[in-house]
Amino acid sequence: MIRYTRGTDGAEIMKEVCVICGEDANTLHIAEVAVKPDLDNRVLLIKDRNDSDQTMKKKRERLDEQTASFIAQGRMDSTDASEFRTKGELKFGMKPEALCSMSIDIITGVTRSFCYRTDNAKFLAKTFSGTTLSASFHASSEEIHTSVGKKVGIDRKGNIIRMKAEKKVDMIDKIAKEDAGDLEYKGPLATTWFRALRTAQQTYLIEGAQSIRAYVERYGILVKDMSVVARYRNRAEFVDAVNNDVARGETSLR
Ligand SMILES: [Zn+2]
Repeated sequence: MIRYTRGTDGAEIMKEVCVICGEDANTLHIAEVAVKPDLDNRVLLIKDRNDSDQTMKKKRERLDEQTASFIAQGRMDSTDASEFRTKGELKFGMKPEALCSMSIDIITGVTRSFCYRTDNAKFLAKTFSGTTLSASFHASSEEIHTSVGKKVGIDRKGNIIRMKAEKKVDMIDKIAKEDAGDLEYKGPLATTWFRALRTAQQTYLIEGAQSIRAYVERYGILVKDMSVVARYRNRAEFVDAVNNDVARGETSLR
């Protein structure tokens, strides 16, 4: 959705709003949404946000050009793309639904758009398949950190997004710039010795530790988000500590 407001100088400001939490997602520049009429064959120029001249496009050309990038950002899928090819129209005119955050997981190399305001009232009340996000996203069965990464938000279809190492993407340039944001390693990946392990080993240790009931009870949230590994100097110390809590019927870590 696009929301129009006025800045302190009276200038009109266009903002895209997150479809899940309703908060600002990013500010749009007129050049990003302006199109010329289908019958207009003149060459029209418009200034973009960097004050450079851009040739105005017709609506369909413009959407065709942007589809691939919207798909890469997770704001459209192939179903939306074919629907839009048929109708020549996106849900919000020139833009697909917006979400308030976009990040690259630099370990998996995947870029995702998602709502990160997971405690916001609208987020909690939003329902997918008849269940509120308050119940589904915050369910105790959804560990904070699993082998797939830390639970960081919800995509536009209600799927939980997890990341291992998050680098925020500049929402204005929408470019995965190296300096776009600080790199943040999630949960156990913030600890150097853990990050150096192979993925299969990381998965083994996360799932193993989270299955030992007494260990989970001892450290609570630290085991749920797996930041507990920061308490140990290396893998061997961690494994010893977990194994001290293994009860009958549970499997020790090796
Ligand atoms: Zn949001």
